[in-house]
Amino acid sequence: MQKFAIIGYPIKQTLSPVMHNTAFMFYGLPFTYEAKEISPDRLLAVLPELVKDGFAGFNVTIPYKEKVQPLLTTLSPEAQASGAVNMIHVRKEEWFGHNTDIAGVLKTLEPYSTQIDKNQVLVIGAGGAARAIVYVLTHNFTPARIIVAGRSVQKTKTLLSNFKAESQIRLDSIDFNPHSLNECIKISKVIINATPIGMFPNIDDSPLPPDAPLRKDHLLFDSIYHPLRTKFLNDGARAGALTLDGLTMFIYQGAEAFHVWTGLDMPIDKIRQTLTAHLNKSVK
Ligand code: NAP
Repeated sequence: MQKFAIIGYPIKQTLSPVMHNTAFMFYGLPFTYEAKEISPDRLLAVLPELVKDGFAGFNVTIPYKEKVQPLLTTLSPEAQASGAVNMIHVRKEEWFGHNTDIAGVLKTLEPYSTQIDKNQVLVIGAGGAARAIVYVLTHNFTPARIIVAGRSVQKTKTLLSNFKAESQIRLDSIDFNPHSLNECIKISKVIINATPIGMFPNIDDSPLPPDAPLRKDHLLFDSIYHPLRTKFLNDGARAGALTLDGLTMFIYQGAEAFHVWTGLDMPIDKIRQTLTAHLNKSVK
């Protein structure tokens, strides 16, 4: 019997346990998956205790994608290059850090190269999800420019300098204020929310200013999957824009973790059906 968990703080609304337990049951595996809320001051002490207690892997969510790194003995190339770890696999004495958010972002954006290539992309947020998004934009697409709007100037600068070192694509930042966001929206084709603004239960919030100049040729991607239709996406859809929710990203980041832990393919259709039913139930 092996145990797995998602770790974060706070961690109330995650559907990772539903996803992985459904997949374990699908294959009849005697494995368990739970959500563990761990406070920041205890993170580095608690994880080794959990491993002693039989945990073999973790998904890592807000705010720990950078903070878990001192525990890791090996980083995957993607985790190394993106500077963020969202999955840990423990085998014998080795702690492997992976970034499976990258697979989720790639699966979501793959069909939209026409909108992304040669155009300007605005990424709102400068945390772990933003790092996976900028990784995919710089490794799998050729946008004319990527602009990151982060509320912490220092964190945003660090993210940009990490990626500038290995990419030819122009990378800039703007301040996280309504005027700068609106000016940037006017000249961008793609707008991506990589913040938790609008996530359940704060579903009336949006990372965009109320008078954001959204247009029908915009592509909006929200990394949030709960709710599926965020205010950010609804505002975009009202302006006629193409909108992508965070569910595909969520499923495929989970599928890659599941594959590393079990060697098996996640039953994608069954998982999508199960998660959609949960999400539809929780908005009623
Ligand atoms: P994170 O590492 O904590 O980063 C969050 C980013 O959002 C940081 O730049 C943070 O700024 C910023 N932010 C938070 N609250 C803000 C506010 N009120 N105003 C302005 N900026 C704010 O978290 P993460 O892992 O990147 O997650 C970000 C979002 O992506 C979450 O909604 C998460 O659910 C989603 N996500 C989805 C998937 C998926 O599979 N669909 C996977 C990963 C993440 P500071 O650094 O200044 O706090």
